[in-house]
Parts: sequence; structure tokens; C-alpha cells
Amino acid sequence: MATDDDRLLLHACCGPCASVAVPDWREAGRTVTTLFFNPNIEPAAEYRRRLESMRTLAGAVAAPLIVVEADEAGDETQRAFEAWRDAVSAVGPADREARCRLCIVVRLFESARQAAQRGFPRFATTLSVSPYQMHDAIEEAGLMAAATFGVEYLYRDQRPLFQRHYEESRRLGLYRQPYCGCALSKWEAWHQKRARRASAP
Ligand code: SF4
Repeated sequence: MATDDDRLLLHACCGPCASVAVPDWREAGRTVTTLFFNPNIEPAAEYRRRLESMRTLAGAVAAPLIVVEADEAGDETQRAFEAWRDAVSAVGPADREARCRLCIVVRLFESARQAAQRGFPRFATTLSVSPYQMHDAIEEAGLMAAATFGVEYLYRDQRPLFQRHYEESRRLGLYRQPYCGCALSKWEAWHQKRARRASAP
């Protein structure tokens, strides 16, 4: 039986990734509470759609869900978010790596802060389900955030679960997003799609 020591605050980037990450953490013996904090999803309608999908998932797997909006984040997170905005406006689409690393820091700093504030001993993120994310950046940001807020960070490579998230999303009727989240990623996805169409026989 789970005890207080098993509690895990799981940052969720979206319902589909959480649909496979939550059961996986439970199988590993963790009692999971989910946290939705993804402040740079644009436009606002897309943010609401992803949050709604996360609410559906939380209900389906009976996991508590905490939602933190951008203006509720702590000072460290706000500073990281400003650095992310500066990086986006300074380098634009040219340096995806720089902006994505900062974006991960923003989300994991707030996750660690929420874990510490709410008495969770540890936190993790569903970003580790995606093969499109930089896993070294996830691990680095998680450890840095953990050290800053005095909680434990758990990294688990959940990429082998990625294929299953399609199946779970269909089964649970979850909205699956067509781009990563920020406005630049939407623009990039649109261009990639156009390029694929243009090169199709
Ligand atoms: S592409 Fe995704 S990970 Fe990178 S900055 Fe945009 S939302 Fe964040």
C-alpha cells in the first residue's frame, strides 16, 4: 500500500503524454498528483484545449490535478520565463535549442517550487515521454530545479511509451496537439507540413 513517502508531483505537458506516464509511475510505486503548468502555449484557445484534455485525462485515471497559471508562478520561474522571452525575441526561430532549453527550465522550476510548497518529496515530468524533447536538457533542468527548491527530481526515460500514447488518446478521447506549444513551434510545424506536401510525388 502507498504511503506519504511515495508521493510524486508529476508535471504534465499534456493529457496524451500523461495518459501513459501516470500508469507508468504508479507501476513504479508512486502515488501521483498531476500538475499542469505550461505557460507559453499559444494561442489562448490552444492552451484551453490542452488544459481541457488534461482535465479529461485526470478524471479518467483518477489522479488529482493542480493547475498553475503563468501569473501564479514564483519569482525564479518568472525570471526564467523572461529569459525565455528574451531568447525567443533575440534569436527567433534560428536557435530552437536555446529556446527549448529555457522553456524546460521554466516548467521544471515551477514544478519543483510547487512540490516544495505543497509538501511533495519529489517531482518528475511527462516531457520525458516525448522523443522530440531534449532529454539531456530535461535531466539537467530537473536536477537544477531540485537543488534550488530542496526536493528530489526523478528522471525516467519514458520514450518507449510514446507509441502507446496514440492508442490511449484515442481510447480516452483526448485532444492531441499538432505542434509543441509556443507560437514559433506552431509556425515551424506549419512550414514542415508545407515542405512535406511540396516534396510529395
Ligand atoms: S518548441 Fe516546445 S519546448 Fe521548445 S520553446 Fe516551444 S513550447 Fe517550449
